[in-house]
Amino acid sequence: MITVAQVIVDVAAYPVDRPFDYLVPAEMTQIIETGCRVKVPFGPRNVLGFVVAIKNETDVPIEKIKPVSQVLDIEPVLTGEMLELAKWLKNETICYEIDALQVMLPSALRAKYEKIANLQTEVELLPEPLQEIFRDSQQINVNVFEKNNLLPQLKAAIKNKQVSIANVVKQKGKVKEVRKVRIIEDNQMLADIQANISNRAKKQKQLVEWMQLHAGEIMDPEVIYKELETSAQVLNAVVDLGAADFVQEEVYRDPFTKEIKRTNFLNLTDEQSVALDQIMNSIEEQEPKTFLLQGVTGSGKTEVYLQTIAKVLNDGKEAIVLVPEISLTPQMTERFRSRFGELVAVMHSGLSVGEKYDEWRKIHQGKVKVVVGARSAVFAPFENVGIIILDEEHESTYKQEDSPRYHARDVAIWRSKYHNCPVILGSATPSLESFARAKKNVYTLLTLKERALKQSLPKVQIVDMRDELKKGNRSMFSQSLMESIQIRLDKKEQIVLFLNRRGYSSFVMCRDCGTVLQCENCDISLTYHRKNEKCKCHYCGYEIHVPKTCPQCQSDHIRYFGTGTQKVEEELAKFFPGIRVLRMDVDTTRAKGSHEQLLEAFGNGEADVLLGTQMIAKGLDYPNITLVGVLSADTSLHLPDFRAAEKTFQLLTQVSGRAGRHEKPGEVVVQTYTPEHYAIELSEAQEYDPFYEREMQMRHQAGYPPYYYLALIQVSHEDVLMAADYAGKAVEWLRSQLSFNVSIIGPTASGISRLQNRYRYQCLIKYKVEPDLIPTLLQLIKIYRSDWIKKGINLTVDLDPNMI
Ligand code: ADP
Ligand code: ZN
Ligand code: ZN
Repeated sequence: MITVAQVIVDVAAYPVDRPFDYLVPAEMTQIIETGCRVKVPFGPRNVLGFVVAIKNETDVPIEKIKPVSQVLDIEPVLTGEMLELAKWLKNETICYEIDALQVMLPSALRAKYEKIANLQTEVELLPEPLQEIFRDSQQINVNVFEKNNLLPQLKAAIKNKQVSIANVVKQKGKVKEVRKVRIIEDNQMLADIQANISNRAKKQKQLVEWMQLHAGEIMDPEVIYKELETSAQVLNAVVDLGAADFVQEEVYRDPFTKEIKRTNFLNLTDEQSVALDQIMNSIEEQEPKTFLLQGVTGSGKTEVYLQTIAKVLNDGKEAIVLVPEISLTPQMTERFRSRFGELVAVMHSGLSVGEKYDEWRKIHQGKVKVVVGARSAVFAPFENVGIIILDEEHESTYKQEDSPRYHARDVAIWRSKYHNCPVILGSATPSLESFARAKKNVYTLLTLKERALKQSLPKVQIVDMRDELKKGNRSMFSQSLMESIQIRLDKKEQIVLFLNRRGYSSFVMCRDCGTVLQCENCDISLTYHRKNEKCKCHYCGYEIHVPKTCPQCQSDHIRYFGTGTQKVEEELAKFFPGIRVLRMDVDTTRAKGSHEQLLEAFGNGEADVLLGTQMIAKGLDYPNITLVGVLSADTSLHLPDFRAAEKTFQLLTQVSGRAGRHEKPGEVVVQTYTPEHYAIELSEAQEYDPFYEREMQMRHQAGYPPYYYLALIQVSHEDVLMAADYAGKAVEWLRSQLSFNVSIIGPTASGISRLQNRYRYQCLIKYKVEPDLIPTLLQLIKIYRSDWIKKGINLTVDLDPNMI
């Protein structure tokens, strides 16, 4: 009988996306499993692949089938669920299956690494051939077993929990270890050893006597030195006598920078109880229900999450909590850790490769039960998920912009069906899509209308900046904002000032001719880095020194324009001498952990004002903040994005929610040049429903989600004519295949019309119901992969584009 592995290979842009059959050599049959990574020959190369199935027959003629070269994992890195999920993602987002598989793993598992076998039990308990290998060391590189054809025996030992395997990442993410002392378990033997020690070796005798009280324990040698006022020499001697041995213990790198205080459960408000009851019910009934928990800022949504998770852990299950970008919200992680301590893992972009790998391993090995993380944590390899929570579910960071172009919300709902557990989508300002689904009872709506401590929502005042100009006030601060700031300074309360800017990078411009320094390869302005006086393209890495004169007109009036936050800081100092300002923007937060430090300093009252871009909008919960000022509410309204109004309303509600969350009442001043715009006008009352009704009308008229679905096709090429030509061909094909109910707009040049030296055209498809759409798009992809790709065309499909 033959063994055949079906393998998805890591070969980019291959025309067909299907598993290939490989013969499993006899010596590998007992180690290979579905979900393992392998090396397999593909054309002239050896490539990485994932085993998606194992079978005993193949259609490939036996003389043609190639063998698997190497099995990279002794324990599978992907579960059966993940393999299924990858297939779903492939169809749902139209991507290569390999992309879907890779996105589920930490980057360390895509890097070079070696595998180490760690002995877990006594050597004597192992099967004979393994005993020899382990006799000299507790830790052996797996290659040694492979060379000796002992992998099947090793695998059996792993199953029997006699040996465990760690992937040691070469270079960056090496598994970290410390040396410990392991005292033997046998008390009688310890007593015998002690009896045999000469009375002159008093310290050794003492140590072994003490060890009898600690038989079988594993401890830090430092503890022994301290406790018994003894030395390494004495300990080594005792180890030589056989009373103990040294072992290497794997430790996880700790991504948490500070200790946390434990907190207890709060008594829920009535609204919170009602919400929690419904969620508990659905956990009891194992219903894969999706709840939309809509609660005003400060209504205690997080407390509902925490108590839900407590229930899930009690049932022996696991919890996944997604937050938009966790490095911006250290407070959130802290709240989870203060409730569930060591059971919490975190996963976000702020961690190093090694830290991410360690956190992933904690989940994979079942050492933790809760993960709090950004988008990709939705793939946390828990096997018994009891709840999945998306906090701030409206945030656009939940959608991945590269292949696979998935939305974490969709993946969460898929997994909830797999595990028969509910999903909670939480927000003060749900996405229109989610709220519309709740209205249709596709999701179950739970509402928290009041703040948890019954504080009133802050009073919002909208200031028309055009009137200020008329009054002769040319500063960035309106009269009312200045007065409000002064009041807070007098009362020693704290202020948050928010500059609503999307592209919050700084650029370099010539003040004479208006030229802005651009990337050579992209249609993007370069970002100024003050530290080394350089300008960089954040899309392709191109960089130059800031020129002394304008490349266009040679004027030396070439200046850098900051985020605006620096300018605000200067003006604040001018109007309020001595004011203490903490600025939080890309310049001040580049270093690791700097967000946390800034927030902590602010929380400790080391500044009067926290000034920043939207990165300060989320998560802030400090009792002394009583004033929030929004300096320019309208900047995000003028973006070419059908969600501009929604995002502006969400942002204003979000920042307003930072004020007056505790005893002291809060006030918000919103400055704008377009107070009549509904997104701004309606943010005054901070009521979601009127905004929802109004925005839905707009979407209906313009034919946008949630009334219509969108698909974005993007075509790029180094040659502008080729790009335009093939974008035209794509549109032509789509028109020939799709019904008249579908509108196809384009081709048009993309928003960023050139990126990394490639010209980009796009076409937008709007549709309501179109059963032929996916098959047609798959057909288009097939044409592209088998022919266009050879001509240097790149074509992508995004079935739920964020920006268009
Ligand atoms: P949200 O996530 O909805 O913005 P939070 O969970 O941050 O709200 O709660 C706001 C504040 O109210 C927090 O300081 C929290 O500790 C407090 N809080 C929440 N629920 C309760 C409760 N039941 N009793 C007392 N305080 C609560
Ligand atoms: Zn110039
Ligand atoms: Zn560039």
